[in-house]
Amino acid sequence: MERLQKVIAHAGIASRRKAEELITEGKVKVNGQVVRELGIKVSSHDSIEVEGVKIEKEEKVYYLLYKPRGVISAVSDDRGRKTVLDLFPQVEQRIFPVGRLDFDTSGVLLLTNDGEFANQMTHPRYKIDKTYVAKVKGLPRREDLKKLERGIELEDGKTSPAKVKVLSSDKQQNKSIIALTIHEGKNRQVKRMFEAIGCPVQKLKREQFAFLGLHGLNAGESRELTAHEVKQLR
Ligand code: URA
Repeated sequence: MERLQKVIAHAGIASRRKAEELITEGKVKVNGQVVRELGIKVSSHDSIEVEGVKIEKEEKVYYLLYKPRGVISAVSDDRGRKTVLDLFPQVEQRIFPVGRLDFDTSGVLLLTNDGEFANQMTHPRYKIDKTYVAKVKGLPRREDLKKLERGIELEDGKTSPAKVKVLSSDKQQNKSIIALTIHEGKNRQVKRMFEAIGCPVQKLKREQFAFLGLHGLNAGESRELTAHEVKQLR
């Protein structure tokens, strides 16, 4: 739900101030009724008319980005850093990232302008599996891996059981590559889980979000999801 004046402003019809004027002057209808109050909130199901012209709803779009390292998962940055939106110069819709990946994490990131879809994808109830491949310092012992599998006590609660697979370990360099599958999205969760077993993450990539991988994409590239993929995710 968004404030009516904000929806009018975002549709590019008027500035926020002008939209407020239009409302108080009785020039705006919601579902056929004139509305003069400034506080009311509307949803994407409401039909809005400004001076007799219906606001066209923005088409819903869904993208899969191979997020590179060194880009922030936000629509703007007060420190002027590059954001994921800078990788979508051609997209006119107001897309935003679904959840986030750290600045130095790469991999699968979805972007959309569909708020309901984004909420579903990030809600713990949906339990969407995300698989990360982490390069970590050290050679975790069996019992450490078991701890990750059972769930680890972090300061903001215990993690749900994870799937863990050691992909390689290098004794000489004292490094391991481990795939970890979790369905939660606590802040810096994967890094904190590995920190908790004494194996700090040196490099992190999200290889998979549900059934979606990075196949065919290079870092920084994106593609639209198919209608079938969007349906399967919901
Ligand atoms: N876990 C992390 O620690 N970082 C990410 O970017 C994603 C999951």
